[in-house]
Amino acid sequence: MQQTSDAAVAIPAVANPPAQKPAAARPLYITMHPDDNVAIVANDGGLPAGTRFDCGLVLAEAVPQGHKVALTDFAEGDPVVRYNVVIGHAARALPRGSWVNERVLRMPEPPGLENLPICTRVPPPAPPLEGYTFEGYRNADGSVGTRNILAITTTVQCVSGVVDYAVRRIKAELLPKYPNVDDVVGLEHGYGCGVAIDAKDAAIPIRTIRNIALNPNFGGEVMVVSLGCEKLQPARLASAGTIPIQREGELDVVCLQDEQHVGFESMIDSIMASAERHLQRLNARQRETCPASDLVVGVQCGGSDAFSGVTANPAVGFAADLLVRAGATVMFSEVTEVRDGIDQLTARAATPEVAQALIREMAWYDNYLQKGEVDRSANTTPGNKKGGLSNIVEKAMGSIVKSGTGAIHGVSGPGERVTQKGLIYAATPAGDFVCGTLQLAAGINLHIFTTGRGTPYGLAEVPVIKVATRRDLARRWHDLMDIDAGRIATGEATIEQVGWELFHKMLDVASGRKSWAEHYKLHNSLVLFNPAPVT
Ligand code: CA
Repeated sequence: MQQTSDAAVAIPAVANPPAQKPAAARPLYITMHPDDNVAIVANDGGLPAGTRFDCGLVLAEAVPQGHKVALTDFAEGDPVVRYNVVIGHAARALPRGSWVNERVLRMPEPPGLENLPICTRVPPPAPPLEGYTFEGYRNADGSVGTRNILAITTTVQCVSGVVDYAVRRIKAELLPKYPNVDDVVGLEHGYGCGVAIDAKDAAIPIRTIRNIALNPNFGGEVMVVSLGCEKLQPARLASAGTIPIQREGELDVVCLQDEQHVGFESMIDSIMASAERHLQRLNARQRETCPASDLVVGVQCGGSDAFSGVTANPAVGFAADLLVRAGATVMFSEVTEVRDGIDQLTARAATPEVAQALIREMAWYDNYLQKGEVDRSANTTPGNKKGGLSNIVEKAMGSIVKSGTGAIHGVSGPGERVTQKGLIYAATPAGDFVCGTLQLAAGINLHIFTTGRGTPYGLAEVPVIKVATRRDLARRWHDLMDIDAGRIATGEATIEQVGWELFHKMLDVASGRKSWAEHYKLHNSLVLFNPAPVT
């Protein structure tokens, strides 16, 4: 990706520019590639009709911030090119200077999954990046936590109220005795009963619950609260030996329907007694210096706008390249937001097997969407469009850049645990909470989230670092956004500078410094991806 910007001093073609426009605001548009025939307006508040840029371009109509302006005359049907990719075709003739939005664009067909380029553009490994460390909690299985959290796994939604009550009691009565433990979290979800548990695709929610219990931040201390009669029996969670057998050969389960429980307090007493045993062991964990290669970073975007692909996502991509050079694991996800760029990904795959796995995940998702009689165009939101993203093709091109420029080393299915180093494609839906939940299962110990429209997203289980795509958002949400990538659009910082800033922020937050979402304890719910039938 190449970023070129074309800034010019305002030569107002209107006699009296709107009063709310600061005199210092210079018309600025940004193109992503020399062959692009549209650019996006960078100025806060957009630009009025008649605005003239230094190159002579005059806006034929008002264009909001982040929205596209035609750099050339389009005839009906002409390709509209951004990121050097055809993001659509003109639905009617559009003179130079027109506002190019979703109403005047026809979306192209997605690339087929046949005859894709396989490993044709595998970037050579970049030089190793050595000497960067963070202070983390090393676990018996070799993984490293960035937080020290007691997590209570649940097998069914029925127990959520009880677990929530128990968590409040544990926080008030037990946690003060164990100062090395950061938090207690009930892993509550909507699954467990009323579901077709033997359906093929039920493997996805089941392995997600199992693998979240094994997230590095929980120190291998797995405790489960079960109801008793639910379809998702605890033994099923422990199957395949993936949950370590901890105590006398048994998974540590409190079953509410167990005959030993007489009255609600008895259930709470059992949960608290179990919690205390785990808290004692967690409290003995100590932070130690770990190489940056122990980071497992999940990246995703939400509330995206046209700047996502210009500022925040390229900066995240730069940081992703740094992480891979440092030997860490970086995973990017969100199937519908990479589907239109699958040819770029298969070309970057490190091996033909990785390319085939990418195609497999895209095909599975195409089929999943078809069953619902929709396609990937169901992804874009009203906010995306208001932010200048006309369709999923444009959104995808801006989303993929979060993955950086390196070879793709591995692919995992939804909810699978990732143990491989390097750049991994972890297939998930793009919905923020679903993606975050599945990346937790994949084993992330840090989560990077970019946003243009603004979202207060946060997770209880791992720290979330949020990156704003625009200065205006970073200014208004100054105590919610951790990094301001909007400075890239205004020319105050480069992608490289913001990328390094994010890299250092990751090491700080991994070592215990709180991100804003963590400071306020802004916690979104776990949302499982269940493509299987509900009964
Ligand atoms: Ca998302």
